Amino acid sequence: MGIYFDNAPTTFIDNDVLDVMLPYLTKKCGNPNSIHSFGREAAAAVARAREDIAGVLNAKADEIYFTAGGTEADNWAIKGVAYANRENGNHIITTQVEHHAVLEACAFLKKQGYKITYLPVDKSGRVNVRDIEKAITAKTILISVMAANNEIGTLMPVEEIGKLAKERKIYFHSDCVQAAGAIDLNVIKMNVDIISLSAHKFYGPKGAGALYIRNGVKIDSLIHGGNQERARRGGTTNTAAVVGMAKALTNAFDDREKNNKKILAMREYFIDKVQASIDNVYLNGDRQGRLPNNINFSFEFIEGEALLYSLDLDGIAASSGSACSAGSLEPSHVLLATGIPIELARSSVRFTLGKHNTYKEIDKTVDRLKVIVARLRRMSPLFLEVKTQDYKV
Ligand code: PLP
Repeated sequence: MGIYFDNAPTTFIDNDVLDVMLPYLTKKCGNPNSIHSFGREAAAAVARAREDIAGVLNAKADEIYFTAGGTEADNWAIKGVAYANRENGNHIITTQVEHHAVLEACAFLKKQGYKITYLPVDKSGRVNVRDIEKAITAKTILISVMAANNEIGTLMPVEEIGKLAKERKIYFHSDCVQAAGAIDLNVIKMNVDIISLSAHKFYGPKGAGALYIRNGVKIDSLIHGGNQERARRGGTTNTAAVVGMAKALTNAFDDREKNNKKILAMREYFIDKVQASIDNVYLNGDRQGRLPNNINFSFEFIEGEALLYSLDLDGIAASSGSACSAGSLEPSHVLLATGIPIELARSSVRFTLGKHNTYKEIDKTVDRLKVIVARLRRMSPLFLEVKTQDYKV
């Protein structure tokens, strides 16, 4: 088995989560909408899952809606509020560092005449609440700010933003996809109207998400069909996925403090070890105000992608901050928004830890990093140029 330091894109499913799901994929196959005993059994499991998720969020069961993941949840929140409140305004405030699920939903609305304000962030990736306040107009109907960033882990001032939104009677949506499992998801304390969740980020199944919609929020449906989800989201409920998500979220809630403590200590060890053994390495984002599991380094003078491929050959999984598009490396919009130079954005690699990682894996990874970084730098024209200048001085 390789070393998996890529828990932000997705996590392993917990064994006990898989155990509770399996019967609903096999013997207990009923459609929760059917009236016979198989259907009733599935419907009861879905109802229990809704109750359990609501319990973790300090919400009511009828405020939880199941979706096919975080992307659908974000799209529903943003487009649903935009369409339902069109007569009150057409302005949405968000940030430059949101996930593409939010940014693209906003871009889609922009084409339909909505006005979108993409607020900048500081060098740690945090939005300033005063900037949100200044951006509010009489036409603002929604503020959407993520609870934690997926690339650099930055924690946003959600409670404060929610307080402001409440005072100004504007709906507040928070993408909590990355934050779930690491922060307290109490929707009352967070002052949120809508939050998005995705089960595969907290050791649950892929393709399973949820939207918390506070009772009373005006929001349109996006998926029309049967009367599932109280006639707000059509489609046969994926019973196994929903049951798995509830179990995974309950596990994450119960073990949050224990896991956070363990993962945070490993993260600090990892960062210190890399910085002590490799020169010209920068930690992107804030050292403290970030998710416990997130490390995002820029290794100056080399391409993050090249480093990633070399790590992969050694069986170590991580992510880079760039995505290959049309043959060139597009640096991450999040890193650029924090103001770092484009070369450093291109040289970034993200390691996201999970509850299964060990110190031994960190030691092995740092040992390999030392070797790979040195080799890639020896081949880097940029590095050689700088070194030659050093010699001349
Ligand atoms: N929002 C954030 C912050 C994410 O990190 C992700 C996934 O990476 C999503 C939304 C999309 O979630 P899903 O993969 O369940 O569609």
